[in-house]
Amino acid sequence: SEIKVELIENAITQFCVEGDVVNYERYGNGHINDTFVVVFQKNSEQTRYILQRINNSIFKNPEQLMFNITQVTSFLKDEVKRLGGDSRREVITVINTKEGASFYQDTEENYWRMYLFIEDASCFEQVSRPEDFFQSAVAFGRFQKLLSDFDASSLYEVIPDFHNTPLRYKTFLQAVKEDKCNRAKEVQDEIMFFIKREEDMEYCKRCLEEGKLPLRVTHNDTKLNNVMIDNKTGNGLCVIDLDTVMPGLSIFDFGDSIRFGANTATEDEKDLTKVNLDLELFEEYVKGYLKGCEGSLTDAEIAMLPFGAKTMTLECGMRFLTDYIEGDVYFRIHKPEHNLDRCHTQMSLVLDMERKWNEMNEIVSKAKGGNL
Ligand code: ATP
Ligand code: MG
Ligand code: MG
Repeated sequence: SEIKVELIENAITQFCVEGDVVNYERYGNGHINDTFVVVFQKNSEQTRYILQRINNSIFKNPEQLMFNITQVTSFLKDEVKRLGGDSRREVITVINTKEGASFYQDTEENYWRMYLFIEDASCFEQVSRPEDFFQSAVAFGRFQKLLSDFDASSLYEVIPDFHNTPLRYKTFLQAVKEDKCNRAKEVQDEIMFFIKREEDMEYCKRCLEEGKLPLRVTHNDTKLNNVMIDNKTGNGLCVIDLDTVMPGLSIFDFGDSIRFGANTATEDEKDLTKVNLDLELFEEYVKGYLKGCEGSLTDAEIAMLPFGAKTMTLECGMRFLTDYIEGDVYFRIHKPEHNLDRCHTQMSLVLDMERKWNEMNEIVSKAKGGNL
């Protein structure tokens, strides 16, 4: 979306950065926020910053979102320093405004924030080598470990009930009952697929409520391109894109990475024979995640990693089906039945996980042993 030049240039001047602006331009491949790189110069030295306009049609409460980000990043920085790391490269650095706030609200309801630019590191859009997937797992695991003593309940739920699977199941049943578009009759098999797995969808939430799984700080957008990889070492360096940091379950962060990262096909592949869980990629991610977590996960969390992957895939498939039944009101579609195609890939992936269930669990036990 177009943003008036005056608004961008005004926003740039609000933050506590020394020197003069050399130039600025749009940057990166993000789909949610408007991202710019801004170059400042002081004496002969140039420093880059990331300027973002927060998408406040998706994030209704930027104050709460920035509260979460500042709390989590300052905790992370202390931990990284304590461990002797470089907190300006391994953690997002929020630049305050001249007024001392973590974001700037302009006169047209735009919310702006600025981060230090993490130099000599890259973001990859797709898994081209299993090693990249492994490194992203190490980074997300390390993120989890470094925050294991952070009180997750002190964070806002930026998107309420984001992974409240039983609630999403209720919404699904309601949509079937209302059947506003008269589509339910065409998708009886799909509906039954999810109803048959009702107990699976409630299990993780129950484990949390019964104290069998701990409440954690979760990232909730654990894609490959939300990790910066160090150009020199090739190691996962820093987890970025912290908008959806919230209280939640570690196994859901893990599980969602598997759902989209270890699927052999795209999310809307029509040839369902192509949709499989790639066990090699699954193993890479398990190994990387356990390595990054470094003993901070409980035995129950580790044991339930495969179940987290299955639950995320079920939840996602069920949401696509719900949206199809409700008339494609939530997810943007590019062709008729697009949501149904997406639902089918998730169902196929669930089925493949069910087929490979023993292997998935063996991979986890073996990797756990290797990490003791
Ligand atoms: P998404 O579509 O993944 O939700 P987004 O719109 O929320 O993305 P970000 O992921 O925060 O945006 O940022 C977009 C891109 O900008 C990143 O993929 C990365 O390439 C780059 N980027 C963001 N923050 C930094 C940083 N601190 N240092 C260097 N590059 C960054
Ligand atoms: Mg991103
Ligand atoms: Mg994002």
